Amino acid sequence: MKHIPFDKAFIEGVVKDHPTPFHIYDESAMREHARRFHAAFDWVPASVNTPDQSPDAPAGFRNFFAVKALPNPHVMEALHEEGMGFDCSSYAELVLVEKLGVRGEDIMFTSNDTPAKEYAKARDLGAIINLDDVSHVDYLAREVGMPELICMRYNPGPLKEGNVIIGNPEEAKYGFTREQLLEGYRKARDLGARRFGLHTMVASNELNPDYFVETAQLLFDLVVELKEKLDIRIEFVNLGGGIGIPYRPDQKAVDYEYVSRGIRAAYEKVITPAGLDPLRIVMENGRVVTGPYGWLVTRVLHRKDTYKKYLGLDANMAHLMRPGMYGAYHHITVLGKENGPATETCDVTGSLCENNDKFAIDRELPPAEVGDYLAIHDTGAHGHAMGFNYNGKTRSAELLLRPDRSVKLIRRAETVEDLFRTIVWDNLG
Ligand SMILES: *Cc1c(COP(=O)(O)O)cnc(C)c1O
Repeated sequence: MKHIPFDKAFIEGVVKDHPTPFHIYDESAMREHARRFHAAFDWVPASVNTPDQSPDAPAGFRNFFAVKALPNPHVMEALHEEGMGFDCSSYAELVLVEKLGVRGEDIMFTSNDTPAKEYAKARDLGAIINLDDVSHVDYLAREVGMPELICMRYNPGPLKEGNVIIGNPEEAKYGFTREQLLEGYRKARDLGARRFGLHTMVASNELNPDYFVETAQLLFDLVVELKEKLDIRIEFVNLGGGIGIPYRPDQKAVDYEYVSRGIRAAYEKVITPAGLDPLRIVMENGRVVTGPYGWLVTRVLHRKDTYKKYLGLDANMAHLMRPGMYGAYHHITVLGKENGPATETCDVTGSLCENNDKFAIDRELPPAEVGDYLAIHDTGAHGHAMGFNYNGKTRSAELLLRPDRSVKLIRRAETVEDLFRTIVWDNLG
């Protein structure tokens, strides 16, 4: 059975102040995970150069939380306290991190098709800029100047298999080819760069731990090649994000100890003998950091019985798009009936005028009645954040379940007025 940190009675208390639907995030569990994640890689050395990051941040292995997964500053603040940096990919994400008071090499800026304005913001903040294309070396230098530290994103093409969400690397729009990388680093050095990072990310929601070991191996080989061919010393490799989570009850979380042992063996085989130790290792996961610690809590509004059975909820696709968009599985618990036998097969739907507004299709659940509360699991990443306003739907509130079991409102629900705020009313008619 999938873990859930509250029961029906607790939610009945919460809804007195915060009506459904809402996303609720478990702060203690996110903090505990962050500590466990960093601890698994505690052998990773600090880099050759002292990074310009917050003093209590890990000098060795570090995850830069991919802000797009859950762009709420209350959650981000807790993750930062646990030592995580932030991976931003847009102007707004940089501004959000700035508002939190975060600067310098606590920020990784991994974007693509990037406007000059965004590079300028990243430079102002002292963020680590991670380039997506060889043409951006000149573009960056011309528009905002070449920083001392520069990172580049490698696309291994046919050397590596992708997976379903991100696709085959050769079909993916991201990153440099191997030849372009050599040219890119050479050029960046000529333009004044003195410190170098190397990045790749070719998987998303990947549960196979070997995948991350292979990614590290691939980058380690390239670190040696860059040293041999260009005499460039890479000071960190960024293995990207993409660690998956067990959305289905029969799936298993990635074993960090296993991944860590595998990466360490590759490090000792490739990096140490080449005299390239210390090499720092970082990642930029979003999903695994917050995904399992969020739930969309919603209420059954209607039951419908036609050619199929339907449970109509007070939540819809605007609150959680993944099932409609990717056919993704999200586990559902009927609160108060956790141990009841799953004897009813139904589609669990929202109110959007789109037939893919379904949280589940042919799901077996304990029979749920009108008024029952459902918890939709694993909505802590790409849940609220992917929300949209099509069909006049408003996004829900976000709540934080604090370590003392109090509940804090960290984003209010949108109102209809919010939807109309950008319309120009005065020149009507
Ligand atoms: C989305 C994204 C991530 C995070 O991916 P997760 O699957 O959430 O771990 C990291 N880096 C980049 C460049 C991304 O676009």
